[in-house]
Order: sequence, then structure tokens, then C-alpha cells
Amino acid sequence: MDLSMYPAEPFRIKSVETIKMNTREERQEVIRKAGFNTFLIDSEDVYIDLLTDSGTNAMSDRQWAGMMLGDEAYAGSRNFHHLEKTVQELFGFKHVVPTHQGRGAENILSRIAIKPGQYVPGNMYFTTTRYHQESNGGIFHDIIIDEAHDASIDLPFKGNIDLNKLKALVDKVGAEQIAYVCVAITVNLAGGQPVSIANLREVYKYCQSKGIKVFMDATRCVENAYFIKEREPEFKDASIRDIVREEFSYSDGCTMSGKKDCITNIGGFLCVNDEELFTAAKELVVVFEGMPSYGGMAGRDMEAMAIGLKEAMQEEYIEHRIRQVRYLGERLMEAGVPIVEPVGGHAVFLDARRFCPHLTQSQFPAQALAAAIYVEGGVRSMERGIISAGRDKQTGHDHAPKLETVRLTIPRRVYTYTHMDYVARTVIQLFRHKEDIKGLKWAYEPKQLRFFTGRFEQL
Ligand SMILES: *Cc1c(COP(=O)(O)O)cnc(C)c1O
Repeated sequence: MDLSMYPAEPFRIKSVETIKMNTREERQEVIRKAGFNTFLIDSEDVYIDLLTDSGTNAMSDRQWAGMMLGDEAYAGSRNFHHLEKTVQELFGFKHVVPTHQGRGAENILSRIAIKPGQYVPGNMYFTTTRYHQESNGGIFHDIIIDEAHDASIDLPFKGNIDLNKLKALVDKVGAEQIAYVCVAITVNLAGGQPVSIANLREVYKYCQSKGIKVFMDATRCVENAYFIKEREPEFKDASIRDIVREEFSYSDGCTMSGKKDCITNIGGFLCVNDEELFTAAKELVVVFEGMPSYGGMAGRDMEAMAIGLKEAMQEEYIEHRIRQVRYLGERLMEAGVPIVEPVGGHAVFLDARRFCPHLTQSQFPAQALAAAIYVEGGVRSMERGIISAGRDKQTGHDHAPKLETVRLTIPRRVYTYTHMDYVARTVIQLFRHKEDIKGLKWAYEPKQLRFFTGRFEQL
């Protein structure tokens, strides 16, 4: 192991939160009571919480100081103006509509930009994004490169769009039947895989030639920028700030979950350049979120988000962030644990098909593996496989994704390398007795986004 690959934390710790470990017997009881769903475990029963990087970030002293500067007026809060100016400067879009979190922005965009029966091509689906597209009559169409669906193929930009897939769809249904193209940077469900500038360029050029709009799911746009700096020679000397601006220059707007790359605990926004869409978005935001100058956030939340977004662009921050995640992935690979390669931006994804070859996909190997990891060491992860993929709206059959994974997601600035060592040890230990992992069946299946609250029994 080359330690120079893993920069030490570019921060020191000013406030700490004690965590404690329960016993294996207690964890067995906890997981049974939680219906073998890690979403239903109490946080107090978890030692290392890698459920998600969403809203689990540690804010900086400056962000906390910003919280005290909250202008809690109902309308025209100065914190909104700070956020608006920051986003306009860093992303380059004309208009910013705040929302309570990313899905609030997805709801509004889907309502104003999709006509029933239109297609929404995207580089792999995301759970809440697809839900809002479909509930507004849109038809999601996957246009990510084939390799993204194969856990064992190592490519620098595994989140890229296959332009031929997009062209084939447009040729088949006609450009007017495309609501917009949704480009996620990075691609969460593919393993946090990045998209290159070269790809963003060619997709946008093609879409412009056809009069099709491009909207980005900007959730991890800073992490994506780091991979571009690292892997796309044209950008090796560019600043992260410049790369982020460049990314968005190939789109007409974006939805953003502030809970990821804004390093906050809540918040989100929608950006658009188009005046008509902006007016339509403002009309809807008052119905679902709040005034266009707060969108479901407190003034202090908007202040923390504006400060966090600037901190996320610091070169030392983002380098440590990406390398810490990679550190965990590489410790697991060294021990022969099958993971999605290459390691992405926010998480290490275990390949549950190869981890549990004794289970078929209908026995929910990833769900079972996530439960087993919790019992093994008090580490909480989440399923990203057949349970998350849900059922087809038309046929009612399960979507059966090729990727059947367990996601170990690293919160920003929360855990140290030693915590990563502990997680690696836990997973490796389990891997040595993986045959003991039992398959699962449904005890209760919710109709929507079933992975959040579904319950299971062991086979
Ligand atoms: C988290 C996430 C969202 C939704 O954002 P929320 O803030 O959780 O509502 C959308 N897209 C991607 C890729 C995400 O990771």
C-alpha cells in the first residue's frame, strides 16, 4: 500500500460525538426487529453508519457560524441572496429556485418539463428521480454505456452516455417526444461513476442540434469534477471550480441535492436558464415547498449551504474525500472481496452476486448481505439491487437490474481512515464465512420506493 496516495485529513476535529458498539446477540435481535432492512434500524444501534452520504455530512466551524446569521424572514431572506449568488457564480446558471432537498427540485422539474407519454432518457435511473418522472407521465429510458451495468469492468468514465443509444431513441420516437435528457454527474447507482467532459460535450451538441434540453442531476458535481481533473488530460491543471463551471456549460439547468456536495444536512435547489421554465417553477414552488426565496429551508440552512458549496470546491477537501473512499475500496480488493470497479466518488459498492454466489437474485442477495454486515460488525450499509429497482409500472414485474450491490457510503468529513480499516475488517471477516448468509423473502412490500420501509423474513 502506497500511503502517499491517501492524503491525511485536511481538517482537525473540534467537536466529537461518541459512538458505541453493541454485542452480536443484540445486533441479531435488532436486525430481526427491523425486518432485515437497514433503513429500519435505530441510529443508536449502529457503530459505523455508512447507510448514505445524504445529509450525514459534518459541517465546518464556518458553516455553523453561518447558521447564526440566519435571516428568518418569510420573504426576501438575505441568506437566499447569498445562496443564489453563490450558485450563479459557481454553476453559471441564470435562475435558482430553492427546495427542501433534491427530490423537491425533481418534483418541480418533472411537472414543468414532462408531457405525459414523453421519454426521459438518462444515464441509469435514480430512485426518486425516476419516481417523479414516471408519476408525471414520463417514460424513463436508460442510455448509459453497457459497461456501467457490469460490476467487473474498470473504465475511467463508467457513467458516460452512449450517444448511439440516445440517437436510436430519438430516431425511433422523434425529438418532440423527448421531454429532456437527464444527465447524472456522478452516477449513483452505477457505483458513483463519473462522466467525462468529452461525453457531456458531445451529448449537448447533439441535443442542441435536435432542440432537446439537457438537465443535470448535479448531486455530486464536485466529485465528478475531481475525476475529470484526475483522468481527462485536458483538465489536469484546471481548478475544480473551473471544471464544475465547464460541466454545467453543457446543460440548460440542473436539480441539486444540497445534502451531498453542498456538505450540509438538508437542502436543495433547481437551476434553469429558460425564463418560461423559471416562471413555471416559481409558481409551483409555492405550492410544494414555500416562497421562491426559501423553498422549504430555513434562512440558516441556506447560509450553511452557500458556505458548504464553496468549501466543497477546495482542492484539498475534494482530494481527501475521493481518496478516502478509494482507500476503503482498495483494502477490500486486496482481500479478494468483489466490489464494483473502479471505486466511485461517494461509496464502495459490494458486488452481492459474487459475494453470495449461493443466492439467486430472487432471494435478494444484496438485502441479505447488508443485514449480515450489520450483524457482523455494527456497520450499516444499504441495498442497491432488485429491491431498490422496484416494479415495472406497466407489467408489475420486478425490474431485475444486472447490478445487485450493497453500498457502503462514506459521509463527508465524518470518519477517519481508522474507521475505514474497521469497516474493511468487518466485511473481510464476513466474506470468510459468506455461506452462512441466508436469503430473504418479503414480509411487507410497500407500493412506492419499497426499499425504504419494506420488511423481510429469512428463508
Ligand atoms: C440523493 C439523490 C437525489 C435526491 O436528493 P434528496 O436530497 O435525497 O431528495 C437525486 N439524485 C441522486 C443521484 C441522489 O444521490
